[in-house]
Amino acid sequence: MMTAEEYIKSLQKMDLKVYLFGERVKDPVNHPIIRPSLNSVAMTYELAQKKEYEDLMTAYSPLIGEKVNRFCHLHQNTEDLIKKVKMQRLMGQKTAACFQRCVGMDAFNAIFSTTYEMDKALGTEYHKRFTEYMKFVQKNDLTVDGAMTDPKGDRGLAPSQQEDPDLFVHITEVRPDGIVVRGAKAHQTGAINSHEHLIMPTIAMREEDKDYAVSFAIPSDAKGVFMIYGRQSCDTRKMEPDAEIDLGNSQFGGHEALVVFDDVFVPNERIFMCKEYQFAGMMVERFAGYHRQSYGGCKVGVGDVLIGAAALAADYNGVPKASHIKDKLIEMIHLNETLYACGIACSAEGVKMPAGNYQIDLLLANVCKQNVTRYPYEIARLAEDIAGGLMVTMPSQQDLRSKETGPYVEKYFKGATGAATENRMRVLRLIENMTLGTAAVGYRTESLHGAGSPQAQRIMIARQGNLEAKKELARKIAKIDVSKDNWPAKPAKK
Ligand code: SF4
Ligand code: FE
Repeated sequence: MMTAEEYIKSLQKMDLKVYLFGERVKDPVNHPIIRPSLNSVAMTYELAQKKEYEDLMTAYSPLIGEKVNRFCHLHQNTEDLIKKVKMQRLMGQKTAACFQRCVGMDAFNAIFSTTYEMDKALGTEYHKRFTEYMKFVQKNDLTVDGAMTDPKGDRGLAPSQQEDPDLFVHITEVRPDGIVVRGAKAHQTGAINSHEHLIMPTIAMREEDKDYAVSFAIPSDAKGVFMIYGRQSCDTRKMEPDAEIDLGNSQFGGHEALVVFDDVFVPNERIFMCKEYQFAGMMVERFAGYHRQSYGGCKVGVGDVLIGAAALAADYNGVPKASHIKDKLIEMIHLNETLYACGIACSAEGVKMPAGNYQIDLLLANVCKQNVTRYPYEIARLAEDIAGGLMVTMPSQQDLRSKETGPYVEKYFKGATGAATENRMRVLRLIENMTLGTAAVGYRTESLHGAGSPQAQRIMIARQGNLEAKKELARKIAKIDVSKDNWPAKPAKK
């Protein structure tokens, strides 16, 4: 396993093509806007080296017969699934941001099981290839961007019906030694901090879309690959001098990027689906399921920090004993733990897949994520309620430090007796960061749209909910004799 320093060095060695503010970034690893997100990923390496976190952060891989970072692991039992969620909560607590490495872990597990079943049904040999790829990832302790979401263009049209054929990643050429692909993946979490991109289709496909049914892996600096950084609210504060307090969380962050594949060649050994449109839906459903489980861990960990920050804000405001404040904090804890309960539940109810790895209970994972589309918003609302308006009207660190204005900032923004004004400002800025600033991408909007927007979960809940079986239960209890019904839709008995 790599240390955090080795991870950072390994990225520095890559020739990543990253664009930000319309220009190529010379040194993405050290760019002030990007660096905090890299620090979050580095934490996945750092904690894995610590004895106290060994059980959560690492696992034994039967594939290579060695200890691996859990982010590179194929889940071997339900305990592994539960530990995954606990690890994500821990990581959320340590970074208060998106630590990005989960998308790779979720893609590994989804592609591993899908390729196995695809090979069985179609006689292809993707599973063997993918197993070799997994060994390479585990041995080198890589960070991999599991990439699913295409730009999608006109949402009412299938991939092959789009005016511009590149709005979904597709195969443009099949050669004896590999394929050429073109298109882009949008909202790619951690793309710039990843050694590799692991591409999956974004929706279930029909035969006419088969050129879009493609899964493959490429190094992040492969020829024809480049990334355009997705800017975040308040991101340029990171470029300002003396703005450490204003950042709220100066050390950690997350990022998303548009990853463009401009006629990229992929060699055969790195292709895991090539036009097998019948299995695109299965891969999507499984990856989404794993990532919906993930949110029952990461968002809960970030929520822990936000609840802690709200409680501190109440202390600095001098109202920790007010009963309505106490009640709001209880409500926040209740909401946050409900999300965690869902993450643990879908893991505990996991099942062994034919390929041998374990998958979460899909219905419970979708319920987990559906709750995540709502509760973090309520937790954020309560945090803002407790923080007070100063969170968004407060002067800057430079005003606090200025000879001229500093004494007035100190005097008028002092809260509870004995509390340092600077500390009050720090905690309010942290709440601002998580609810409105750079980390709000990961805690708020990503809670809504990440791992699929709310409607995507509702479709899965409808599919997995088994309403017919529930009706049957009710019929039995109510002693309903169906022969007495004469439904309008049902032909009358002759
Ligand atoms: Fe991991 Fe959460 Fe970020 Fe997804 S949103 S990559 S689960 S930290
Ligand atoms: Fe995400």
